[in-house]
Amino acid sequence: MDTPSDQADVMTGGSVLCQVAVPVPIRRGQMQIYDYIAGPAAHCAVGSIVKAPLAGREIWGVVTGHDQKADIAPAKLKTVISLADVPALSDETLRFLQAVSRWTLAPFGSVMRLMLNTPSAFLPPPEQTVYHLSAQLPDGLRLTPQRQRVLSFLQSAPPLPLVDLSREVGVSASVIKGLADDGALNRSSQPRLAPAGTNEMPPGSALCAEFTLTSAQQQIADGIDTLAGAFSVHLIDGITGSGKTEVYFDQVVKQVAAGKQVLILLPEIALTTSWKARFEKWFGYAPYIWHSSVSAARRKSIWRQAISGQPMVVAGARSALFLPFSSPGLIIVDEEHDGSYKQEDHVSYQARDMAILRAKIHDVPVLLASATPSLESWTHAGCGETISAVEGRTAAGQTGWYHWPLKSRYGSAHLPDVSLIDLRLSKPEAGKWLSAELMEAVTERLEAGEQSLLFLNRRGYAPMTVCGDCGHRLTCHQCDSLLVTHKLAGRVQCHFCGIGQPITQTCPSCETTGGLRAVGPGVERLYEELCERFPEARIAVLSSDTVQTSAADALFAAIQAGEIDILIGTQMAAKGHHFPFLTLVGVVDADLGLGGGDLRAAERTYQLLWQVAGRSGRGERPGKVMIQTFQPHHPVMQALVVGPQDNPNEARDKFMQAEAEARQAAGMPPFGRLAALILSASDIVKLEQAARHLNDIRPQFAKVDIFGPAQAPLSRVRGQFRIRFLVRTERQVAIGKIVDEWLSQAELPSGVRLVCDIDPYSFL
Ligand SMILES: [Zn+2]
Ligand SMILES: [Zn+2]
Repeated sequence: MDTPSDQADVMTGGSVLCQVAVPVPIRRGQMQIYDYIAGPAAHCAVGSIVKAPLAGREIWGVVTGHDQKADIAPAKLKTVISLADVPALSDETLRFLQAVSRWTLAPFGSVMRLMLNTPSAFLPPPEQTVYHLSAQLPDGLRLTPQRQRVLSFLQSAPPLPLVDLSREVGVSASVIKGLADDGALNRSSQPRLAPAGTNEMPPGSALCAEFTLTSAQQQIADGIDTLAGAFSVHLIDGITGSGKTEVYFDQVVKQVAAGKQVLILLPEIALTTSWKARFEKWFGYAPYIWHSSVSAARRKSIWRQAISGQPMVVAGARSALFLPFSSPGLIIVDEEHDGSYKQEDHVSYQARDMAILRAKIHDVPVLLASATPSLESWTHAGCGETISAVEGRTAAGQTGWYHWPLKSRYGSAHLPDVSLIDLRLSKPEAGKWLSAELMEAVTERLEAGEQSLLFLNRRGYAPMTVCGDCGHRLTCHQCDSLLVTHKLAGRVQCHFCGIGQPITQTCPSCETTGGLRAVGPGVERLYEELCERFPEARIAVLSSDTVQTSAADALFAAIQAGEIDILIGTQMAAKGHHFPFLTLVGVVDADLGLGGGDLRAAERTYQLLWQVAGRSGRGERPGKVMIQTFQPHHPVMQALVVGPQDNPNEARDKFMQAEAEARQAAGMPPFGRLAALILSASDIVKLEQAARHLNDIRPQFAKVDIFGPAQAPLSRVRGQFRIRFLVRTERQVAIGKIVDEWLSQAELPSGVRLVCDIDPYSFL
């Protein structure tokens, strides 16, 4: 029952109550809002971040309103504990979070968490004691030379903490304390600022004017300039080495000069030292770097600056999209086709698509850069000639898309000469993986003192181990997957759940010893083959489990210095590096990745191989690319053969056109929409029950196809069995709404988990 005093407060019209969106994942696509006694939040703006009690914990939530009619008696309500020491989230930022939640069907609370994941940023910076000169020196002050130095230093320096002052002047702390005790210096408190990174945006820094764009780049810059200041999407479609980065750097310069914030999204793997060096060379300072392993103190200062609205440039992995920028002027998505932009845990979102959505809400331009655009962007930007205009909707619609091709390489660099090696005709020896042609080309490079990259996108030694006696294959005991041999680590390992065991000589099935054989190549096995054939050569392996991130830079430096002859690499070697002595790229198994019935298998294979090919011939010397394949007539292989120099994208566009037509005929993205539902449980009986139940209540609509339930291709992961449904709709259908309505009627037994993935990229 209401107490008289509570009622009196409500009657006076003061903001006694407020509503707070809390970070609990309950309803798909919706906010979970609770009433609170406003307390310190009585007069705060909507979007303010507050600390509040919830179910015995303290959580950070966002104020959504000050409605004075609560469903619950005020006496039963809890009170907001405190306000965060930062400005409120802007209206655009809140709308962005809501739009992501609705689009992905993730609860608003989960999406909000992506942004409020740096709670240290909500607290004011700690105070520190600083020393400065007194207004007047006390009479009769004893002046030693050391004391004199302190006083004259502080005449032209800002107030400093004891440690810094003592270091700068070169006197002991007791000298400074003595001066303060004698009244010559005053102590006061000021916020301790997080240490700035090296050279980050020094105030008033002159932007580098000595860089000039080529005429092709300038033309694009002028085109984008005329559209700046409002939402538009620009696909910068430049072949490798054509200077896409400079085109977007030029836009960054202009935005920062206008006092705006700029976000550059990059795949984490492409956020290399060489990329950062390139940035610094242009700007004279380093960008703020944001990814999972940035220190807490750095995160705090970047987060606070983002919400403060001060100009800044952040370069980061996909999670940087959820920084609370208050005055963004431009969003850039480099390598826009990259698969790592799709997040699949918790909130499943496509960062490129959500970046476009965010740019639209803030009404700012977004630049997408790639040498191998995704079919989505390629289509939306109007690159397909005969594809009819796409009706309907994407995350942000597709009006306002522009296509900017860059077709020639910088300076003396030429496009590499690409050729195919038909493995049906040029068989490597048994147990070997390199054809005679490729071996010969490597030999030539060694003799010429040039480098070769042999690309094989397979970690470890061998992807499969088979018993010669009984045919048993080593599999993971908790996943439906094969164990991969990692000879260097002495283990066999599951690449899905990560568990492994020491390499064994005994078959776990028939218990015969010595009959287990490694089947197929991995980079470690290729290394053995090359060491055997070229014992004199300096050979290195670049793969995420042989090279730690910290050691990778040293390896890149060695390659750039010409200290490596042959580099064996996985996709880690494919991106963002400039190796001037590298003149040969050999693709060991181009067919890897084409199988599996994945919607984007061909597109992805093309993108990856083209990117690898682009490593060759970036310096003075011409490059060569040799691709080993069993399917030389596959459209992907044909597309990799470079077109004439005046239109190097001719073959690619032909391939993309064919892909687009096939997808359109099948009603697949970007011409239709997909959603995947994955049910999983350790109890297969319960799981099948749940799948039958979902199937019984499946919606019946025209223009909506529901495939499944079917055992997922990866039918078990970490001991969880998996069943999938796939929903396909025509483009104009609001697929999220259909899925949401369907699922809201479902009653799943406990222990059965349901994951809903709108616009899925993984079909396992
Ligand atoms: Zn056996
Ligand atoms: Zn496993």
